[in-house]
Amino acid sequence: METAFERIGKNLKGKPAKYNRFLKFSKHKTQPHDARTRKCVRCNRAEAHISVHGLNYCRECFREVAYDLGFRKYGKEA
Ligand SMILES: [Zn+2]
Repeated sequence: METAFERIGKNLKGKPAKYNRFLKFSKHKTQPHDARTRKCVRCNRAEAHISVHGLNYCRECFREVAYDLGFRKYGKEA
């Protein structure tokens, strides 16, 4: 399915001056920034996403499941 941008652009092809003006001032609407597309797989929170090692958890879920995943604290506090 063609977008409104493509449809209007196609109609203006025969009018070069208007087409150039359309390209200059009408930006193609793209997908929003990918910051909100990555969500926690456990609670769907979009903030504080941990994607390292393919975890895909938020910070709070990571705190809860980290021990079960094999993350251990070694040192004085452990
Ligand atoms: Zn979460």
